[in-house]
This record gives sequence, structure tokens and C-alpha cells, in this order.
Amino acid sequence: MKRYSAFAIAREALRNHTGWERAWRSPAPKRHYDVIIVGAGGHGLATAYYLGKNFGITNVAILEKGWLGGGNTGRNTTIIRSNYLQDPSAAIYEKARSLYETLSQDLNYNLMFSPRGVIMLAQTQHEVRGYQRTAHANALQGVATEFITPRRVKELVPIINLSGPRYPVLGGLWQERGGTARHDAVAWGYARACSDMGMDIIQKCEVTGVRTEGGKITGVETGKGPIDCQKLGVVVAGHSGVLADMAGFRLPIESVALQALVSEPIKPCMDVVVMANTVHGYMSQSDKGEMVIGGGTDGSNNYTQRGSFHHIEETVRALIETFPMVSRLKMLRQWGGIVDITGDRSPILSKTPVEGMFINCGWGTGGFKAIPGSGWGMAELMAKGHSPLTQAFGLERFREGRFIDESVAAGVAH
Ligand SMILES: Cc1cc2nc3c(=O)[nH]c(=O)nc-3n(C[C@H](O)[C@H](O)[C@H](O)COP(=O)(O)OP(=O)(O)OC[C@H]3O[C@@H](n4cnc5c(N)ncnc54)[C@H](O)[C@@H]3O)c2cc1C
Repeated sequence: MKRYSAFAIAREALRNHTGWERAWRSPAPKRHYDVIIVGAGGHGLATAYYLGKNFGITNVAILEKGWLGGGNTGRNTTIIRSNYLQDPSAAIYEKARSLYETLSQDLNYNLMFSPRGVIMLAQTQHEVRGYQRTAHANALQGVATEFITPRRVKELVPIINLSGPRYPVLGGLWQERGGTARHDAVAWGYARACSDMGMDIIQKCEVTGVRTEGGKITGVETGKGPIDCQKLGVVVAGHSGVLADMAGFRLPIESVALQALVSEPIKPCMDVVVMANTVHGYMSQSDKGEMVIGGGTDGSNNYTQRGSFHHIEETVRALIETFPMVSRLKMLRQWGGIVDITGDRSPILSKTPVEGMFINCGWGTGGFKAIPGSGWGMAELMAKGHSPLTQAFGLERFREGRFIDESVAAGVAH
């Protein structure tokens, strides 16, 4: 595949853009692959990419029931940070964040990674203590964060109201190298690189059954016929329970809709990401000028990929306390995605009861930031049978009671 470069842009400008190649091929599925990945979201594509790049495994198909990146990967609010409390979480999220730093160069695809900084506001004494604890833990883990004063918060975010009607801003957990990236580009960049390595990305190909023999994986049933494989990686976020059911086991996962919205575009007014976990809302400004706003999950489990008025109302009402200017914005659009939530709010990267079948899920409301690290670890797990990055995230932790409890530490886990 031809490399993208400034020279290529100039060349194509001169020949009326007639020489661009398709970013990835759309082949018909073969009868057999060494590895099948189900789900062409960021995590599935990254897993395939690092299987090829780090382990030379390229006889790989990535099967996607819709269009690639059309799941949560293309629906999230793109916050990237690694300021988690527990050691295994900090390790995998920081691996991901550090890979993001050079991923555009690695993939030869502009992901618009923008390490503009992320603040998590402390608006109760409990949060002050919690975030100070996280800052100390991060120092030991080698993750660069600091607890900052309200004055510093105001310097970083001039539009903020420090003394809101219910909760004053008492400080914040600041990660300077956190930020955002263009979500579609992450999927597209990985897809292009996978296709370039000879992997087959097959869209509109729903997996409808998992085939096993003597407890071992042999292949999958799909809308395009049966396909054999030696190893199967299931990376389908909110539909993980459905795929596990096909293979005959259950997952400790709940599927819930999570919603977000953007405002009309306005002039640049905020150049960091702010998360207000107590009032429950978070906001950043996109390169187009839209204020990107996210809130909480639906109150009950469901598979509806759409927004709802009461959530928008709740999120905006909460945010107006901290950012009064939001009250004067018009909403441009809203949407939802189905997130996969575990009891300890940590992901599952694991072998399964079926030999040769692996699962990567449970990223819940905060897995976009983890895509490169998750793909890196999952590829190692699938290629070698173990990975230091994924070791603590196995399914057996639920049986053994070894939870990686981020539910309080990560509050709003986006
Ligand atoms: C509104 C919202 C805001 C969010 N904000 C953030 C944020 O700011 N920061 C952050 O880090 N995270 C955020 N997240 C979470 C993040 O988006 C997800 O954790 C992450 O994108 C999950 O990626 P994935 O590749 O696992 O799943 P997905 O991108 O959902 O990919 C899974 C794919 O599997 C496919 N699939 C399902 N079933 C089948 C089948 N039977 N056969 C074939 N294919 C199948 C689906 O079509 C889908 O494309 C947010 C999520 C939402 C919904």
C-alpha cells in the first residue's frame, strides 16, 4: 500500500486526486484462517494488527456484522487518560496512552491524537481524598498525574464556574498528557494497516454460531457461510454475552446504552478535557468547534443504540452548574452505544472454557483510550497463551474474588 505523506498529497493535488487507493480491501471470506477476530471495532482491529506486527500471524480474518468502527469505537467521546488506581489498570491504560503518542507514525495514518490534558474535578471532600490517593498511586506506577488547586483549574479552564450552586470545585486530578484522538481514524488506521498485511476485513458478515469439537474451537457460522479457524478472538463489546451464549458459557457482563451529544460549533473556548464526576457530566471541544458532552449510562440493561431525552436533560442540567455557558448552546446531535459493564468496572481479556477461544470485553464506558494497549496484550495472549498486560484480567478473577475494583476510583470511567 502506498504511504501517505506530504509528497503524496502534493502529487495527488496535481493529478486531480485520481491516484488514491482504497484504504482497505473488501475480499470474500476464505474457507479457513489461522485466526478469526469477531468485531471490527478498535479493540478487534488492534488485536489483529499486533498479531501481525508483533507475532507475524497474518492469516487472519476480522468479521464485522455492520461496518468497521460502527460500534462504540465510532460513538464515543474520545477521552484518553491512564490515571486509574489499581496497578493492572494503570499498566494497560498507560501502555495504551504511550502507544497513542506515536500511533499516527506507526500506522502512517493521522489519528489527530491531541494530548491536551484531562482534568477530573474534585467537588466533594471525598473526591479530594480519592484523587489525592490516585495521584500518589500514579506516582508509584510511573503515570504522570498531579492533584491541582482550584486556582490552577481556573487558569486551565477560564470558562469554569468554581463555586457552583451545589458543588464548588475543590481541586482536580490533572493528567497533562491525556487528551483525545479522532475515533473513526483509530479504526480506519488499524484497518488499513491490517489490510496491508494481507488480513481480510469482512464487513456485513454477522457471526451467528460458534463451532466446537471436543471442547475446542473449530470455526464460526456466519451470514456468508461457515469459516474454519484454529483460534477465535471475540471482541464485540455490548454483544459479548450473545457470542458467549453461542459458545455455551456465560459472562459476568451487563449491556447498557451510554449516550452523548454535541453542541453547535462555537469559537475555541476550552482546550482541555474536563470531567465532573460528582454532578456527572464531561466535556471537551472538538477540532470543528462542537462541545462534545457525555453523561451516564441508562438505568436498565438494553440494546438500544440511541439517545433519550431524559438523559440529555440530566447531563446538560448537571454540566450547567459548572459551565453556565452551556445553557446558551444549541444541541446539534445525540446518539448512544451499547457498553459492556463488569461488576468491578474492569475489562476481561481472557481465555474461555472453549479451548482456542479468547474474549476481550468489559471495557464499558471507557475503552476507547485502551485500544492500543488492549490490542497489544490480547495479541500476545492469543499468540503465546499468556501476557503480563492481560494476566490480571482473566475470567477466573470473578470465581476467585480477585476483583480489580475501579468502580469507585474510576467513577465516570470514560
Ligand atoms: C457514548 C459513549 C461515550 C464513550 N466515551 C468514551 C470516552 O470518552 N473514552 C473512552 O475511553 N471510552 C469511551 N467509551 C467507551 C468506548 O467507546 C468503548 O469501550 C470502545 O469503543 C469499545 O471498543 P470495541 O472495539 O470493544 O467495541 P465496538 O467498537 O463496539 O466494536 C465491536 C464490534 O463488534 C461487532 N459485532 C457485534 N456482534 C457481532 C457479531 N455477532 N458478528 C460480527 N460482528 C459483531 C459490532 O458491530 C461492533 O462493530 C464511550 C462509549 C459510548 C457509547
